[in-house]
Amino acid sequence: MIPGGAWLYIFSAVIGLIAGSFANVCIYRLPRGKSVIRPASRCPSCQTPIKPWNNIPVLSYLMLRGRCRACGQPISARYPAVECLNGLLYTIALYRFGPTARTLFYFLFITALIVITFIDYDFQIIPDEITLPGIPVGILAGWLILPDPFYRALDMGMVASLIGAATGFALFYAIAFMSRGGMGGGDIKMMTMAGAVLGWEGVLLTTFTASLLGSAIGIYLVIFKGKGRKWKIPFGPFLAAGALFSLFYGQEAVSWYLRYGRHW
Ligand SMILES: [Zn+2]
Repeated sequence: MIPGGAWLYIFSAVIGLIAGSFANVCIYRLPRGKSVIRPASRCPSCQTPIKPWNNIPVLSYLMLRGRCRACGQPISARYPAVECLNGLLYTIALYRFGPTARTLFYFLFITALIVITFIDYDFQIIPDEITLPGIPVGILAGWLILPDPFYRALDMGMVASLIGAATGFALFYAIAFMSRGGMGGGDIKMMTMAGAVLGWEGVLLTTFTASLLGSAIGIYLVIFKGKGRKWKIPFGPFLAAGALFSLFYGQEAVSWYLRYGRHW
């Protein structure tokens, strides 16, 4: 017997794996200017269409032992990894926010952040196809269904959502201006979208978390991997990680800071 609540987790993990599979399609096709709807998935090496029963998230990869059925070329382990990551984050979202409409919206937000992360990592672009629709959708969600992530008892409302979007836009517009090309329009649009969902506090916490993470990894790469300081790392993946941290633990981080951090 599986208790009733557990079915919800199993269901959201499965939805997460399937959405993760679609995220893989977006990650591959969006930066190459291809439609994400048609045609059906193909092997990147031999272009053979993948049969639906060979396209089951994670399971097919394991059953085919990570190789294309037609040409035998290895399939990147990143495909099942992205699916698992998406499934895991959906499960955490359900745990944090319960079976609510806002959780369904956060599913969308999480997958958008994953797609942005891998496209920015591969191509140093943050796709407009995600961020431009994401801004009005985020504001609409903020207005109608989202709680304020920092005051979970309160709804965010349209004003808070707009202020969040404006904060993300203004802060990253200023950063892009000062960094002279280090940070671009993609980051501005991404943080406008994130601000609509997370509010202005979320923008600040996301930026702070992303900078910490980015510096830590930058220092690691310079010291241990011998990368020069001029070597550029895309910032989108760090912003995505910061946004997820703000979404899941923003409230805790801020109350922790208010209790202990101020005495430093
Ligand atoms: Zn193949």
